[in-house]
Amino acid sequence: MYDLKFRCYQRPFRQPLITHHGTWKTREGIIIHLRDSQGRNGWGEIAPIPGFGSETLAAAVELCQQFGKTVSDENIAQIPDSYPASQFAFEAAVTSLSIAQPPPQFPVAALLPTGSAALAAWPEAWQQGKRTFKWKIGVDAVEREIKLLQQLLSHLPPTAKLRLDANGGLTPKTAQIWLKRLERTKKVEFLEQPLSPAEFDLMRELQRQYTTPLALDESVTTIAQLQDCYHRGWRGIFIVKIAIAGFPHRLRQFCQKHPLTLVFSSVFETEIARNAAFHLAAELASPDYALGFGTDSWLHPPPFPLKP
Ligand code: MG
Repeated sequence: MYDLKFRCYQRPFRQPLITHHGTWKTREGIIIHLRDSQGRNGWGEIAPIPGFGSETLAAAVELCQQFGKTVSDENIAQIPDSYPASQFAFEAAVTSLSIAQPPPQFPVAALLPTGSAALAAWPEAWQQGKRTFKWKIGVDAVEREIKLLQQLLSHLPPTAKLRLDANGGLTPKTAQIWLKRLERTKKVEFLEQPLSPAEFDLMRELQRQYTTPLALDESVTTIAQLQDCYHRGWRGIFIVKIAIAGFPHRLRQFCQKHPLTLVFSSVFETEIARNAAFHLAAELASPDYALGFGTDSWLHPPPFPLKP
């Protein structure tokens, strides 16, 4: 049995995040605190994104309230699969009870603002040591975005890497236009989720046709979906938003049987979930790719000390 406390937070974005899914202005989540019988403290964070198939914040609050002042390993194991952010948070909190050392650090990809604002934004991230950048596409007309890409590529230093993220916002036609254009550059590391999850077969086909690697993200928001796409033949990159993916032990078990190329990615969580994610990344993420965690500058600091 663990003593349980939890607290909700709101963190406004310094500038709203614009993607194909829309505009995001405030990140809301829950910090959970466990204390075990030896007096050790464990921390976890529920950072849901209902648009990516996780539970809502309200549902997660209700779950925590139902647990009351204590929670057991059995209660945690029984968190339903429809609560993947809570599954992650509670397992991570239990794991953290027995982890004393901070997580290892990794290179992270800096998320650039959408549209032409990216052109002015990358130098600061470069000066901070970022060498991989991520830029959202599928928001404006394809011709305008390709023009901007050309400008961005001509400005970026030769050693920079750029990954593109369409958030499922391209059509079969515009995806082909993008991929044909990308054949002429070697600077684009991969293209994330060109088409909606319903177009899985076509994405697998595009992966075969073009040399720019493709990564699935929205298609694989939970570990069950990731397993499904693997069994349906996806051998490209998997973006793992670990904080909304479900119980980490399930991903570990699957990775022990199958060699997967995983790129861990942020859901705009605080350092509580990020630390848990980095511990897991040391075990499971592909060493060839920067982690998609260059997002902290996007948010105002948390409204209270996370570990009082
Ligand atoms: Mg993505």
